[in-house]
Amino acid sequence: MTISGLLAAAQSRLSPVSDSPHLDGHLLLGQAMHQGRDWLIAHGNDQLEAATIECFELLMERRIAGEPIAYILGTQGFWRHEFHVSPAVLIPRPETELLIEILLARLGPDPRQIVDLGTGSGALAVSLASERPQWFVTGIDCSEAAIELATMNAGELDNLELRTGDWCQGLAPGSLDAIVSNPPYIREQDPHLMKLSFEPVEALASGPDGLDAIRQIIPHAHQCLKNNGLLLIEHGYDQQRPVEDLFRQAGFEQVTGFNDLNKVPRAVLGYRS
Ligand code: GLN
Repeated sequence: MTISGLLAAAQSRLSPVSDSPHLDGHLLLGQAMHQGRDWLIAHGNDQLEAATIECFELLMERRIAGEPIAYILGTQGFWRHEFHVSPAVLIPRPETELLIEILLARLGPDPRQIVDLGTGSGALAVSLASERPQWFVTGIDCSEAAIELATMNAGELDNLELRTGDWCQGLAPGSLDAIVSNPPYIREQDPHLMKLSFEPVEALASGPDGLDAIRQIIPHAHQCLKNNGLLLIEHGYDQQRPVEDLFRQAGFEQVTGFNDLNKVPRAVLGYRS
């Protein structure tokens, strides 16, 4: 069996379960052979060893069972880094990069105290800390496994602290320049959750209307922010209006909604007056 023969067969086996069967086949064989896509394409006519085919087959079985490619590979690209991921954390989504863009545009490079609530793999906290060496970023998550993984992702950054905690608990009142969060926001009964069954449900679902975590975060965040400090929260496609209302009820001003790269309402920002 040649590399290109195996990849063609893999693509048709993956088609029923994946939106990107061609890419997935390449990524899985690349993983089995410790090679990149370019190498696989250049070596399409090479014969494969039985041990490689066996190793690839195990990865294929996981993918065909619905496991996300990021968990099989153990990494996911986000902003400028490859992040280690495991089933203990949500796989970082491209739409969440919107939060980075907004914060970088709103806050200058001078020293700031920033907190990322529900940091998971650390995608937001690590990206912000590495973009802005003068900021000090704290990433908080209730899951110890998530904090271990985020710590691995943080590498040598020295303007980043990662710790377990329950949302804003333990943060000093009036102490922060910005709080950012991609909290769980899917409705408990949402059928979309079935498709995400490999990811931790506590990072995805949040009560009957999906707003339990957001409802908890907003008023506490208000207390922890300095005057003119900002809160930025990611939310579901149909939650922008209620999230904006919750911001205003808690006393936030200049409340603004943002769309993601697919033009879907995805985040709300507000300032403590
Ligand atoms: N955006 C993710 C999804 O719908 C959910 C992320 C979250 O709940 N924070 O797949």
